[in-house]
Amino acid sequence: MTKIYAIANQKGGVGKTTTCVNLAASLVATKKRVLLVDLDPQGNATMGSGVDKSELEETIYDVLTNRADIADCLVVSEEGKYHVLPANGDLTAAEVEMLSMPNKERLLGQVLQQIADSYDYILIDCPPSLNMLTLNALAACDGVIITMQCEYYALEGLSALIGTINQIHDLLNPKLRIEGILRTMYDPRNSLTNDVSAQLHEHFADRVYRTCIPRNVRLAEAPSYGQPVLVYDRQSKGALAYLALAGEIIRRNELGASSTPMNSEVA
Ligand code: ADP
Ligand code: MG
Repeated sequence: MTKIYAIANQKGGVGKTTTCVNLAASLVATKKRVLLVDLDPQGNATMGSGVDKSELEETIYDVLTNRADIADCLVVSEEGKYHVLPANGDLTAAEVEMLSMPNKERLLGQVLQQIADSYDYILIDCPPSLNMLTLNALAACDGVIITMQCEYYALEGLSALIGTINQIHDLLNPKLRIEGILRTMYDPRNSLTNDVSAQLHEHFADRVYRTCIPRNVRLAEAPSYGQPVLVYDRQSKGALAYLALAGEIIRRNELGASSTPMNSEVA
């Protein structure tokens, strides 16, 4: 069964794209078939996968606005060995065009269903806002992976995200759940990190991944080479952490972990 996960948080700079690229490559390393969907007009996941966003003839924009077939737009990340549905700045226009289209929240879900059987995992890299693109990701996926930096304002904004997830669950996508909370850029020497971590465990219990992604300079360097960290420096702490995360996600799936109540309230 294909699992579709949206990597979301309307905050920027919390490790969504880094997680998408490196989790995709790590799942491939365990022999899974993976598609990365770049749903951010910044195209960072596309570039970080070694695909030049300025040279693309067709992107996710053309797919969402019925100008192209999804199968014609997929590209292979030579570096990461996964498939990419790429994005560039054109996607900004799609967000506006989609507003006047019928079934506007279901457009992504409809196109992904056409190719879902070819993959074990589909990871959607969401933009840093709760806009129509993000709503499409939430309507299309089985679960949301929320990336969080354990810092002072980390929990702020989380209730808006969870409110949106609850709404989409009730109105459009009854299978939607919070798949997991991932702590990124983690520094256990910082006492605030431990406080925020404790609060996350209180609210989300076993939905918080045991794997934390440490702050690791190799993770920040790899995108400028268009490589997942597993290719750039496979011994690095960042590479090992994302491999561990892939293992944890696969194990959770195999165990069929219990679902999270959708009404988790957060400060
Ligand atoms: P988002 O997609 O949520 O905006 P990114 O994944 O682009 O966040 O990360 C923001 C910045 O932080 C990028 O420059 C990225 O390279 C860097 N970064 C992300 N995760 C880590 C990490 N674990 N250690 C060090 N740098 C990181
Ligand atoms: Mg991003």
